[in-house]
Amino acid sequence: MAQEDVFKKIVSHCKEYGFVFPSSEIYDGLAAVYDYGQNGVELKNNIKQYWWQSMVLLHSNIVGLDAAIFMHPTTWKASGHVDAFNDPLIDNRDSKKRYRADVLIEDQIAKYEEKIQKEVAKARKRFGDSFDEEKYMETSERVKEAREKRDALHARYAEAMQGPDLEMLKQIIVDEEIIDPISGTKNWTDVRQFNLMFATEMGASADGAMKVYLRPETAQGIFVNYLNVQKTGRMKLPFGIAQIGKAFRNEIVARQFVFRMREFEQMEMQFFCQPGTEMKWFEYWKRVRRAWHEALGMGTENYRYHDHEKLAHYANAATDIEFKMPFGFKEVEGIHSRTDFDLAQHEKFSGKSIKYFDPEKNESYVPYDVETSIGVDRMFLSVLCHSYCEEQLENGESRVVLRLPEALAPVKCAVFPLDKKDGLPELAEQIVDELKFHFNTHYGDPKDSIGKRYRRQDAVGTPFCVTVDHETPKDHKVTLRYRDTMKQERVDISQLRSIIEDRVSITSVLKKLGEEIKKY
Ligand code: ATP
Repeated sequence: MAQEDVFKKIVSHCKEYGFVFPSSEIYDGLAAVYDYGQNGVELKNNIKQYWWQSMVLLHSNIVGLDAAIFMHPTTWKASGHVDAFNDPLIDNRDSKKRYRADVLIEDQIAKYEEKIQKEVAKARKRFGDSFDEEKYMETSERVKEAREKRDALHARYAEAMQGPDLEMLKQIIVDEEIIDPISGTKNWTDVRQFNLMFATEMGASADGAMKVYLRPETAQGIFVNYLNVQKTGRMKLPFGIAQIGKAFRNEIVARQFVFRMREFEQMEMQFFCQPGTEMKWFEYWKRVRRAWHEALGMGTENYRYHDHEKLAHYANAATDIEFKMPFGFKEVEGIHSRTDFDLAQHEKFSGKSIKYFDPEKNESYVPYDVETSIGVDRMFLSVLCHSYCEEQLENGESRVVLRLPEALAPVKCAVFPLDKKDGLPELAEQIVDELKFHFNTHYGDPKDSIGKRYRRQDAVGTPFCVTVDHETPKDHKVTLRYRDTMKQERVDISQLRSIIEDRVSITSVLKKLGEEIKKY
């Protein structure tokens, strides 16, 4: 199945099974805003819990924070967002659609890349086992031509983005003859800058109202509270502050479901350290964050780093952790060495000292900062994309199963009475009442056949189903069914908790991660 079709199926699966709904759908939705349904919110909460605990439980020098979404407007002057949090936009006069100029050009670069890959694949088929990819890349005229075009475009694009030079961006779009996918024309406007922050007014009277912004990142809430936390927590460098919260960006082109939204959630941790040690910590956090992803067991081959060549003015190193989505490897998390830029800016704009007195060095300085920033929604999407699976079964039937990491599954265990008679529902409810204190356990009504009930649980990713049958009142045994293998076994009711609890607990993943981190 084409990857595009897989993605469409995942989106409709999310809606059908209560994971994600378009926002205010009864009014036809709101572009790039989504609501999480009954299963989505559980999965999302589990992701957040795993992240939070990996920060504040596994690191004794990391503490949490929950700052407000509204912040004093000067915050955004100091951080550079008022002047520089822009995307270059371009309109097509015929379709009246708006695009990000940089994305149009990046898509064009990707087209050259695709062309190269296609040529290589064709040659591999032609030459079979004797195919030497490296040699082919060097000698094929067609590949050489596409590589030259790609590299030249890449160089021009990188130059145009410095500044950025809007006229040059437009010229690239003209020279590359990029067409609007909707109208099919090249009737483009000039490129303009567009600020991504949402603004609103705070205060009742029109005169006294103050323009405030919905925060475009959670990080600034941490920077402005740096001193509060450091002093009240008596924190010594190096130490980190972790925060989970909503962020808002008026994205020009919001595509790909929850991958790019206008209201989304971030999990950010700012790690403050001595100047000069930031590269050591940058490398440390690069490894730890990748290990965090990999501990979920979604395949090491599905992750890669993308080191930034072009750095933001405040950063001295940056990398993304990308995950293989159905639409290619995409950024899920960013790790940035932000130097002392943010704290120094807030010091300058507020006029208050944000220095740290280092008792060992006997001097004061503004700490350096390494940031790890991951989007909850992108993480959610990567988990779903990896887990969604359509299976052909031996008996000719098919099933859709979400092979979610067990610790993240919304429901861990569903308990079904085989039918309504002989006190089976009551017995099933008793089992739920016992297990529900340890992990999320649901009772499944006996109105559907047992097969249908299993399929429904497969579709929401429930790792364990328990069936209470007519033998159960006599032998106190139930049928335990495993989601992934569909294997069934009879076990004693008293064993259920111990079999399931360890496998579905976030603690078990944290322990695995903790062991890994010790090596770094
Ligand atoms: P992109 O280049 O895709 O716009 P970014 O580099 O601007 O992302 P950051 O500012 O580094 O993103 O934000 C950190 C994380 O927040 C990203 O790695 C991503 O997971 C998440 N994120 C950013 N923008 C959005 C969005 N519009 N919708 C959902 N998640 C987002």
